[in-house]
Amino acid sequence: METEVIQIDEHNIDEASKKSLQRAGQIIRDGGLVAFPTETVYGLGGDALNPDSSRKIYAAKGRPSDNPLIVHVADFEDLETIVKEVPDSARKLAKAFWPGPLTMIMNKNDRVPYETTGGLDTVAIRMPNNEIALELIRQSGGFIAAPSANTSGRPSPTVARYCIEDLSGKIEMILDGGQVGIGLESTIVDLTSDVPMILRPGYITLDMLKEILGEVEVDRTIIDSNSGAKPKAPGMKYRHYAPKGQLTIIQGEQSKVVEYINRKAKEAAAEGKKVGVIGTDATKALYDADVIKSVGNRQDERTIAHELFKVLREFDDENIDVMFSESFDDSGIGQAIMNRLLKAAGHNVIIL
Ligand code: AMP
Ligand code: MG
Repeated sequence: METEVIQIDEHNIDEASKKSLQRAGQIIRDGGLVAFPTETVYGLGGDALNPDSSRKIYAAKGRPSDNPLIVHVADFEDLETIVKEVPDSARKLAKAFWPGPLTMIMNKNDRVPYETTGGLDTVAIRMPNNEIALELIRQSGGFIAAPSANTSGRPSPTVARYCIEDLSGKIEMILDGGQVGIGLESTIVDLTSDVPMILRPGYITLDMLKEILGEVEVDRTIIDSNSGAKPKAPGMKYRHYAPKGQLTIIQGEQSKVVEYINRKAKEAAAEGKKVGVIGTDATKALYDADVIKSVGNRQDERTIAHELFKVLREFDDENIDVMFSESFDDSGIGQAIMNRLLKAAGHNVIIL
């Protein structure tokens, strides 16, 4: 299959772009797949109410079919037509955070096929905050099932280049809307339990949810790698976000971390390995290795969220064998950053 790549500027959707979005919508209505930008990461979209489309999404990604897909909507009224009932909490959260990087889990009705929910009676729903995504959803009939647009297990794409790398030849179209704004996947909150529970941390933090709902719990498996418990979001049990090389996170006082990483980088280089380091704006100049990248600025963690997946993919582009990363504070958005980084490293952490 030939994959068409079309560039669209989110902030200037002209007549030609509108026509492209109509065509993209028709592809999805006809059961095909289109990758598109959202504010979190790129999504791989198909008709959420068509079981064949969901099957195709799993096949294109190589994703296990028990790992449910998030359904994207553009209008709150549409949500009401695919769930058993809309909890009060969902109305409050939508008012506060939609369109935005928050996914809510509710009890599904019969319109949503089990192929989309990985066999579950619940469905995850989100309204993305990106004009290209919203227009595509409307043009597609209202419901797009979309996981991240990467090969299962690899870091999620935050630029179209990596969707093309993973999915070219496997899907009908890729909409290139430039680099996404946030860079990490949505926060997932389960509203079917007595107390709402965060199943995946993201840009919308625990404190932000508590401010709207009062009591909110966090699935312990998100942060505690040794609990042995099964994550409540089926997808969180899989190895994820992983670069091709081996990544180790080094935790400790800054000067010790720099010294340790430089020593280990030298040892690995002596064994003939190509070494990469993930530092920050403040520490980048202190490292000595083949490729050194800053992931952002600790004073503004949004910069780190924005760059993390891109940096991991860039190390793959440069065939890096061994990577060392600094560790980050795990409160606020940092919880999402560390959740992704720990998974990318297979929970390989050295504490100094
Ligand atoms: P991705 O599509 O790559 O953003 O991943 C979607 C995540 O949402 C996975 O970790 C899924 O396990 C999780 N998810 C989707 N639907 C549900 C659901 N009904 N219950 C629990 N987790 C879900
Ligand atoms: Mg994903």
